[in-house]
Amino acid sequence: MHWTTHIIIGANLGKALGNPALAGSVSFFSHAILDAIPHHDPNHNIGNLIDSILGGLILCYIKVRNENEKSPVSSSALSGAFFSALPDFELVVKVFADPREEAFFFPTHNGEIRHGRINLFHSLILESAIVAASLIAARFLGKRRQPISA
Ligand SMILES: [Zn+2]
Repeated sequence: MHWTTHIIIGANLGKALGNPALAGSVSFFSHAILDAIPHHDPNHNIGNLIDSILGGLILCYIKVRNENEKSPVSSSALSGAFFSALPDFELVVKVFADPREEAFFFPTHNGEIRHGRINLFHSLILESAIVAASLIAARFLGKRRQPISA
């Protein structure tokens, strides 16, 4: 699954849960679930570079927003985004070497959990639908947590 997708969904999970520790745990686990869904993995450096830059910019935006808001929900969103993104940091080694699949730690990266492959277009549609669902969940659950003012 694209790194950017993991980050956005992790942030939305964090907003929905409203608790940084819970958001980090659930988002880290969500990485495995999302990686197991059939998707397209960029198989050239330019695709990985675009995904990395976009994901990094979104992660920075969430970090800056948390610095400005300093609320439990924004901290939870940052925790969710970071821990959802964390497993893919081990893939950076691919930039410098061509490691065997078994060398990786995370089960969806070392072949213990495999996923189906679909083309980029279908993958982007599927990932967009999952992102939209997570956004709706974050809005719905976030509103339920807000106190009703008199
Ligand atoms: Zn991954």
